[in-house]
Amino acid sequence: MSTQKTNKESLHRRRIMILYTGGTIGMIRTEQGYMPQKETFHRLLDQIPELTSEAMPQWDMIDMEPLLDSSNITVYEWNRIGQMIAARYDQYDGFVVLHGTDTMAYTASALSFMLRGNRKPVVLTGSQIPLCEIRSDARDNLITAMLVAAEDKVHEVCLYFGGKLLRGNRAMKYSADGLIAFESPNYPPLAEVGIDIRYNTAALLPPCEGSFSLQRLENVPIGVIKVFPGIQFDLFDAIMTESLKGIVVETFGTGNIPEGGDKLLPIIRKASANGTVMIVTSQCPHGTVSLGTYETSYALKQAGAVSGYDITTEAAVAKLYYLFSRGLDREAIKSRMECSLRGEMSSENAKDS
Ligand code: ASP
Repeated sequence: MSTQKTNKESLHRRRIMILYTGGTIGMIRTEQGYMPQKETFHRLLDQIPELTSEAMPQWDMIDMEPLLDSSNITVYEWNRIGQMIAARYDQYDGFVVLHGTDTMAYTASALSFMLRGNRKPVVLTGSQIPLCEIRSDARDNLITAMLVAAEDKVHEVCLYFGGKLLRGNRAMKYSADGLIAFESPNYPPLAEVGIDIRYNTAALLPPCEGSFSLQRLENVPIGVIKVFPGIQFDLFDAIMTESLKGIVVETFGTGNIPEGGDKLLPIIRKASANGTVMIVTSQCPHGTVSLGTYETSYALKQAGAVSGYDITTEAAVAKLYYLFSRGLDREAIKSRMECSLRGEMSSENAKDS
């Protein structure tokens, strides 16, 4: 890791945009449970003197309407977030997206693919405890995310939470109640934050060379199946229709599935014949799929499934949406699913997207 200190004077000349989409960070407690509350959140932000300090960048904030609990985020909101960034891309040095933690890793993954040619920091953050509460983690997460967004060090979509800056499409929500809620088990943190922000320069993506554009996503029908002992594969036969474009199969260990008597192979073959792209990921957060290592993963390989290597399910889902939305044919999608487009997997193959 290399420690790179921030030049505070130059940071104050930088301009960032904060996009507030909802999430616990701006919620208040109601009789129906926590809900986003815009006025309270803005009032509390006005009371944080650090946000207008000389050491901070200049910033503007835009609220997404309506504010959401991130469990309700869909492809529609990803397009809105992408559009809001794209429309202001040239006006700002970096972007912070305030987001609920539940689906933050999905949104970070989606944005990493959608923002083609992006070379600016886009930092997602939020909090486990609302800003209005006494022990909130919101203040540090917000301030650090703003500093990262203002610096010209990171050229990719990332996620800052609880002292760690992670690659967005490598992150997963790891703790439902801890303040260090995210991990990227198969990729080192892009930076660790203590007294200084220590960037791991070797882990950062180099700035993109192409021009910036937004790829909007379509709400492509895709699915995720998690296998378990005793799974009755014939129950899934009904969903294996031509309208299912892609499926992520979360397997045991390095890509293994139960043999399922004679039920499984015909279903996989049917999916393949229907044109469904099947991606194999592992239920283990750490490590990689290696299809064909065991007999129990051989069937998947034979039937035309592709390896997702060490990709997260969050990134696999987002990548399927992205590749189908680009209108690529099935073979082109399959080959890209096995390649790293934005550093989302450790496959040896890298492809330009
Ligand atoms: N349910 C909340 C959300 O994802 C949780 C959080 O933000 O921590 O919006």
